Amino acid sequence: MHEAGSLEELRGILGECDRCQLCQNRSKIVFGYGNPDARLMFVGEGPGRVEDAQGLPFVGPAGKLLDDLLSGIGLKRADVYITNVVKCRPPGNRDPLPIEIDMCNPFLQEQIKLIHPSVVCQLGRIAATVMMKRSIQISKIHGQKYIGPGYFNVPVFHPAAALRTPSTRDLLLEDFANLKIYLEQEESPAEPPAPQPEQMGLF
Ligand code: URA
Repeated sequence: MHEAGSLEELRGILGECDRCQLCQNRSKIVFGYGNPDARLMFVGEGPGRVEDAQGLPFVGPAGKLLDDLLSGIGLKRADVYITNVVKCRPPGNRDPLPIEIDMCNPFLQEQIKLIHPSVVCQLGRIAATVMMKRSIQISKIHGQKYIGPGYFNVPVFHPAAALRTPSTRDLLLEDFANLKIYLEQEESPAEPPAPQPEQMGLF
């Protein structure tokens, strides 16, 4: 893919995307929202019904919880950048398929390159699996900081899971407190040694 100089240019390259079958059922592409210079970036799984209708990430019930969690650590959504592994809603909110993830992943990687965050927080198992390139158990690794290529990965529970289970909500609150600490610790890990593979075949 041609390297974009800005998020706007990257959005233009994505265009009215028909690279995978998710284009057939979506209403709006949900590219991402927030501060293009954010130090903290969030990556969710994929747009849900409300996001698909509005073209914005995390604007449904899970997004309301995300806003509350951010406010708890003194941040607003305009301070951070929020996007998803796939930019179009999987029908019926099913998990995105490997081919759909692979088609969208170059755009996620370019967003990260352009934003250059210190911390990328993966919301839920799917985002964590894609970005950490291995199968993970979110219950075992949530809230910890892992060295990524030029930033730290911090996988946490998906806010939708926290809406269903109060004990998960408590863990998510603790993980956001950790995110605040990680952001206060200025350093970022070294730059990537090699480009990200575009085809990952993870599942
Ligand atoms: N769930 C996600 O993973 N992403 C959204 O944008 C909304 C809900």
